[in-house]
Amino acid sequence: MTSPFDLTGKVAIVTGANTGIGQAIAVALARAGADVACVGRTSAAETVAQIEALGRRAINIAADLSTIAPVNRIVDEAVDTLGGFDILVNNAGIIRRADAVDFSEADWDAVIDTNLKSVFFLCQAAGRHMIGHGGGKIINIASMLTFQGGIRVPSYTASKSGIGGLTKLLANEWARKGINVNAIAPGYIATNNTAALQADEVRNKSILDRIPAGRWGDASDLGGAVVFLASSAADYVQGHILAVDGGWLAR
Ligand code: NAP
Repeated sequence: MTSPFDLTGKVAIVTGANTGIGQAIAVALARAGADVACVGRTSAAETVAQIEALGRRAINIAADLSTIAPVNRIVDEAVDTLGGFDILVNNAGIIRRADAVDFSEADWDAVIDTNLKSVFFLCQAAGRHMIGHGGGKIINIASMLTFQGGIRVPSYTASKSGIGGLTKLLANEWARKGINVNAIAPGYIATNNTAALQADEVRNKSILDRIPAGRWGDASDLGGAVVFLASSAADYVQGHILAVDGGWLAR
């Protein structure tokens, strides 16, 4: 019997796949059988090599997602090179830290443009393709700050709270069209994005003290959740935000 988690024959687009969570997600999808288009402003050559070593096809699509200029080209390149696609993972994201009283317009716009505006328009471009090709799976990367306020990261909190609402809206509009739109909310994962927190002894200790699992997450901890949401096992899961957080939200 075929596993409901098997992604053989599927093609995924993963943004920000050169490092961190995006790289781990791309490799996990490939391990489950998918071919992967790795999208980003920095070359994902290392991720492509890891996927090819698993016997899957992988391509690098160079794209800077700080504007929506590349979104249609990303879809076209995936279709032209890999013959179509079934899965989109919106992972690329940035964070800017400053007290709310000092927060600049530039830091507001940069984070909202990359983390929210480009995500919506890439969903739109992908959704248009999926609607004409039997549906698909869209997985947005949310955050604990989809549920909580955080501190010193106003544009990041706004963007990730927006991702929660957008995920539900798109699920409402597209569920009947065969597209599953869901999100994964990682807890505290050791990557470039959280390097400043890990380096701050006081913040690092307070974070660790609060995580029931007692450790920072590893990017590979996201693999099971993304494979599930990308697979037919999740065909009736819609608009869900799946926390992978070592128990952080349960505290
Ligand atoms: P990361 O190591 O900093 O990776 C971020 C990725 O996004 C990189 O591939 C980066 O490319 C890419 N990216 C940023 N701006 C881009 C742009 N303008 N165009 C194209 N790609 C761009 O951080 P991460 O922790 O893996 O973050 C991945 C996602 O998880 C983000 O959405 C983040 O908000 C989310 N997240 C992380 C945590 C955590 O604890 N780490 C928790 C919750 C949510 P470059 O290498 O070129 O910068």
